[in-house]
Amino acid sequence: MSIAEKIKSLKEELPDGVELVAVSKTCPAADIMEAYNAGQRVFGESRVQEMTAKYEELPKDIRWHLIGHLQTNKVKYIAPFVSLVQSVDSAKLLNVIDAEALKNSRTIDVLLEIYIAHEETKFGWDETELFDYLNSGKYKELSNIRFRGVMGIATYTDREEQTKNEFLHLRGLYEKLRHGFFGDDFNIISMGMTGDYPLAVECGSNMVRVGSYIFGERQYAK
Ligand SMILES: *Cc1c(COP(=O)(O)O)cnc(C)c1O
Repeated sequence: MSIAEKIKSLKEELPDGVELVAVSKTCPAADIMEAYNAGQRVFGESRVQEMTAKYEELPKDIRWHLIGHLQTNKVKYIAPFVSLVQSVDSAKLLNVIDAEALKNSRTIDVLLEIYIAHEETKFGWDETELFDYLNSGKYKELSNIRFRGVMGIATYTDREEQTKNEFLHLRGLYEKLRHGFFGDDFNIISMGMTGDYPLAVECGSNMVRVGSYIFGERQYAK
């Protein structure tokens, strides 16, 4: 199947209300354009420099999501245009995003990336740390940030039961945060990638981040 056909079949497969983020990291602009011409408008990138270069080059109605770890000193490069920062994992990063959003006269939408996997390598808030921060009330001072939901990456495993438990856990946490702190604007559960998006949707995901299924295996430059 071509990239365009993959986009179309995914959109047919996903239930209404589940947003498809096409993860285009390492993909050339021509591949993104093929997806764009098939109607895809939301793309996810992991690296600031790559996302900024693609933003400059590609149509301006693309909505760019940052999904990879974000360093505070790089926020300024994406603050003018980023549509959603999915990978917010610290209070320090929230403060910087808020300040850069203000400089650009914008409100920036963010997801709280939660550490749900049983692996050492994943980023995200530890839950105790997150609740300590939220209970401090400091997030209320961030007037140029809109908290939209949660993002999580499940453990890379073929044990479906474990993946499912991690997704259900994230969903439960989302409900707690929505009802305990944020309210109606907080309505996004970003979970599910190429290997596990059908299970994620079953567990309540309403935003899936799919890369290699659409664009093929990634070729990393050496
Ligand atoms: C790369 C990446 C994806 C997409 O992964 P695939 O397995 O290629 O679909 C999704 N989410 C995050 C955070 C990623 O870094």
